[in-house]
Amino acid sequence: METTSSFDVIVVGIGGMGSAACNHLARRGKRVLGLERFDVPHAMGSSHGVNRIIRLAYYEDPSYVPLLRRSYELWRELESGFGEQLLHITGSVDASAADGEVFLGSLRSCQLHDIPYEVLTGAQLAERFPGYRLPPDHTALFQPDGGFILSERAIVAHVELAIGSGATIHAREPVLEWEATPAGVRVDTAKGTYEAEQVIFSAGGWLGTLVAEVSGLAVPERQVLAWFQPAEPGLFRPEKFPVFNVTVDEGRYYGFPVYGIPGFKVGRYHHLDETIDSNDWEREPNEADEAILREFTARYFPAANGPVMTMKSCIFTNTPDEHFIVDRLDSASQVIVASPCSGHGFKFCPVIGEILADLAIDGTTRHDISLFRLDRFMATI
Ligand SMILES: Cc1cc2nc3c(=O)[nH]c(=O)nc-3n(C[C@H](O)[C@H](O)[C@H](O)COP(=O)(O)OP(=O)(O)OC[C@H]3O[C@@H](n4cnc5c(N)ncnc54)[C@H](O)[C@@H]3O)c2cc1C
Repeated sequence: METTSSFDVIVVGIGGMGSAACNHLARRGKRVLGLERFDVPHAMGSSHGVNRIIRLAYYEDPSYVPLLRRSYELWRELESGFGEQLLHITGSVDASAADGEVFLGSLRSCQLHDIPYEVLTGAQLAERFPGYRLPPDHTALFQPDGGFILSERAIVAHVELAIGSGATIHAREPVLEWEATPAGVRVDTAKGTYEAEQVIFSAGGWLGTLVAEVSGLAVPERQVLAWFQPAEPGLFRPEKFPVFNVTVDEGRYYGFPVYGIPGFKVGRYHHLDETIDSNDWEREPNEADEAILREFTARYFPAANGPVMTMKSCIFTNTPDEHFIVDRLDSASQVIVASPCSGHGFKFCPVIGEILADLAIDGTTRHDISLFRLDRFMATI
């Protein structure tokens, strides 16, 4: 049992967001302790499964675009500090019916923020990228800066750089209890008690179990990914196949070219709408999970519909409006909570890390995070 030690900031949860926060805090000279319940990295939360999509055409809300631009800069900076490529550009396709949210929202983002794009019909898309077989009357927005980030490697990169700047990171040390104190915060684990002026909770699917104020606002959900071996692998190489978000009759899906695992990677947003307890859920993917993803692949990407190579389950942490939570608690301003998920957060890790460091160090940030305030839910809690 360690005796009490003190830090400027404790970061609880060293996944996508916590690792980035540790890096940004440490490089700005703060004494940081990062505590992670599992390994660094691990496959129990929201950030595993090789890669995550990044795109500028942001149908969720155009106000994410300035954050995305900063994220691209910070991903490139992280790569050069780490010495490894983390961001792969493939272009991105956002497609739906012409009056659907995915296409129209992406178009609005591009127009408002002067982002280059092309509009293609489903038929033109299939001609240009023959792995695609969307309905011919579907409308697709192609944006050339889209691509994917290697998510587990990104966590390793942020943690290595954080440690290089003096951060203390402990894995396999779950936070059991914490308390706001007059001087800041006290955090207890099975191995020690730690004190700090501030705490950042970036605990992903466990956030609501640690911070009562957000339970009910950050709700974990089971999600499943599959990798199918293409019959024609040449059509699904990163240089031939842009990442995608598409809405079709069956729902909203996303996918990737073959990378890291010999398969076309595909997932369905809110797979079976299964809310879970993050400590106790069905992690092992099953035949029904495969059937959902295979049915979609067979219909819209038939040349990828070969034997399954890998399946993984993962946690989405959803807010009621699917926008992030990044804020201080009203009841304890030394406590910062971060839930940038709802299935679309990973691409923002470095800018969220920068914002969390701004909030802890300066009390404010130059980035516009008004969309992520907790008080927008006040009417519902
Ligand atoms: C299947 C899937 C596909 C996705 N696709 C995309 C995509 O294409 N593009 C995109 O931008 N986003 C995507 N997302 C969303 C993105 O992955 C998440 O927004 C992101 O991973 C969230 O990071 P996080 O740091 O909040 O969570 P995590 O990375 O899970 O980190 C939380 C950490 O907190 C730790 N923790 C929890 N409780 C404690 C405790 N008591 N003590 C210590 N540590 C604790 C956990 O172990 C974990 O390591 C996807 C998510 C999933 C699940």
